Amino acid sequence: MGESIRDTMARTALSCGGCGFTAAPGDDWEAIDDPVLGSLTRCPDCGSTNVTGNV
Ligand SMILES: [Zn+2]
Repeated sequence: MGESIRDTMARTALSCGGCGFTAAPGDDWEAIDDPVLGSLTRCPDCGSTNVTGNV
């Protein structure tokens, strides 16, 4: 089970809905802590948290 999870993480890229910036999870993304939504990923380029997985 652990292997398949790691494999999925390696293949999935994240894409910014604001400016279109794309990078692998944990690459250039900023991690922020939102009081309502919890842990979020923020675009380092435009600062948007509208980040979605790009399969
Ligand atoms: Zn962006």
